[in-house]
Amino acid sequence: MSLLRPRVILPDVYSITPEFMEQHGLKGLLLDLDNTLIPYGSYEERHEVMTWAADLRRGGYRLYLLSNATRERAAFWLERLGFEGVGMAAKPFPGHYRRGLQVMDLPARQVAMVGDQLFTDVLGGNLNGMFTIMVRPISDNALPHTRVTRRLERIVLKRYGHDWYSRDWRKK
Ligand SMILES: [Mg+2]
Repeated sequence: MSLLRPRVILPDVYSITPEFMEQHGLKGLLLDLDNTLIPYGSYEERHEVMTWAADLRRGGYRLYLLSNATRERAAFWLERLGFEGVGMAAKPFPGHYRRGLQVMDLPARQVAMVGDQLFTDVLGGNLNGMFTIMVRPISDNALPHTRVTRRLERIVLKRYGHDWYSRDWRKK
């Protein structure tokens, strides 16, 4: 079960500050796209996420997009986000996690995988010896397979003593 355990659970990516990176000895982030940086399926620009990414990059931190979305969708966002990465990443399989480390030129222990899903983002990050950060999904998408996944995630997270639906994590 520990492969499914995120090292840290945060409300959103904005909690990942240069201070946070420093504190955990991190130099780079592998970033999920949908529901981590951008609402699921959205093509609407989000100024806050661009600013956040630019600030981290200015601080010398490396960012790499690791998305299971289509290549077209990933390409659309890569153009706007200003850093490298891939779509169709086949998370949790290790191929593109390793490629991301190569491109960032960083060892796994200095990199965090950041995502909203346990069975793809977190599992893959843990399998590759990375720090793992789970963020609360930006939007609740209603796809049937996602609903099942969310229920399973909730069961696993509860075993770790975490509940998105508790008062502390309820959406503002
Ligand atoms: Mg996601």
